[in-house]
Amino acid sequence: MNVCPTGIDIRNGLQLECIGCAACIDACDDIMVKLDRPKGLVRYDSMNGLAGEKRRIIRPRVFLYAFLGLLGLGALTVAAVNKAKPYNFTSSRMIGPPFLVDGSSIRNNYQILLANKRNQPASFVVTLSEAPEGYELSGAGQTIDLPARGDLTRPAILMVPHEFYKGPCDITIKVVGQPGDVEISHTVRFVGPNPSSLKKTKQ
Ligand code: SF4
Repeated sequence: MNVCPTGIDIRNGLQLECIGCAACIDACDDIMVKLDRPKGLVRYDSMNGLAGEKRRIIRPRVFLYAFLGLLGLGALTVAAVNKAKPYNFTSSRMIGPPFLVDGSSIRNNYQILLANKRNQPASFVVTLSEAPEGYELSGAGQTIDLPARGDLTRPAILMVPHEFYKGPCDITIKVVGQPGDVEISHTVRFVGPNPSSLKKTKQ
């Protein structure tokens, strides 16, 4: 009771407040040694062990847990090998109206974040990937240099002339990082007004 951080008396059996720190086990063993009695009065044990019967170490669940553990480790390794990239790229919609319409085009404003996780400088080229006709990204094709372990946030404007706008659609922004020729894509939703309302405005 003196050593228990939650102040419970483990002699009354396992209790909800127990955090399994095992301080009572160590304290009890110390006292038992001083009294020249066998250790393990307070201990982790199976029901068989507590009843004084023979303990079975090799049980089906030991193999099951080992198998599940290996399966998880394998899945983690495959995910790490396939997804661990030396660069990071994300994009998010900027705060404010979801779209802007001027006399000739519709615009969506985004913010892109590039991060270089390597210990050497890297360069990036941001482009659109297989975008529908007419869609353009500001600064597309320019090279962005980042120092080792550097990151950068910059605005990116996605725009399309009225005549090419057919309604909301998904647009994929692609970044290629060097060295390594690492490609990372992120799909954003381009939104705008009802296309028919644009035609009416022109008329
Ligand atoms: S294991 Fe820790 S928390 Fe649980 S009864 Fe023992 S000393 Fe208290």
